[in-house]
Amino acid sequence: MKITHDMHTHTTYSHGKNTIAEMVEQGRKIGLEAITISDHGRSHPVFGVRKKNFAKMRAEIDALNQKYDDIDIYLSVESNIIGANGDIDIKEEEKKYCDWISAGYHYGYFPASIKDIFVFALPNYAARVLPFLRKAVVEMNTRTYIKMMERYDIKLITHPGDKMPINIEAVAKAAAEHGVILEINPRHNHLNAEEIKIAMKYPVSFAINSDAHSIAALGDMRAAPEVVKAAGIPITRIVNITD
Ligand SMILES: [Zn+2]
Ligand SMILES: [Zn+2]
Repeated sequence: MKITHDMHTHTTYSHGKNTIAEMVEQGRKIGLEAITISDHGRSHPVFGVRKKNFAKMRAEIDALNQKYDDIDIYLSVESNIIGANGDIDIKEEEKKYCDWISAGYHYGYFPASIKDIFVFALPNYAARVLPFLRKAVVEMNTRTYIKMMERYDIKLITHPGDKMPINIEAVAKAAAEHGVILEINPRHNHLNAEEIKIAMKYPVSFAINSDAHSIAALGDMRAAPEVVKAAGIPITRIVNITD
């Protein structure tokens, strides 16, 4: 089992160790057909891509696509989920440079509003140590994911449910309706085998990505083949894998 298109990779434009050119060079070396550069969305004060860099990244990627005909290079952004209403931190001025958009939940972002600090960000932290909050937080987070899919044209949800517990059944159903791919991210252990088993009841697609932050990790599936085997999911449902 091998990744053909690594759809989730980071570079020095957020907190990756290597440049776009170095990641692409490595992608060619390991025989990737395609690579997507997806650095973090702007609302992360440390990791977020600076607004002014999107044009630069686009130009670098266009030049590399001109230079190489053995690999396709795409620009995306791993936007942050920043509000209970499904807000993500991508604006038109950035989106226009991207080939497609992914979204995931991370710590340390600026919430969409003051209210979201109290109704969204803090409850997600608190539910980790206060189990009685978990049910309400899961219901809220599930609504958030569904609203996000309704509001934005997202191709992929990265590490679904990581740091933000969800009802995977409801999210998978909505993802199938909206044509959104759910990621099997072995770096974060979401989706895991149990979650895939539930999600695959719906006609949703999956992708396995490395979430590489350096050339050494590019295309690395870690435990994903075992996870896929344990879930019993047909490989044809994973969009970026070959035998
Ligand atoms: Zn992420
Ligand atoms: Zn990532």
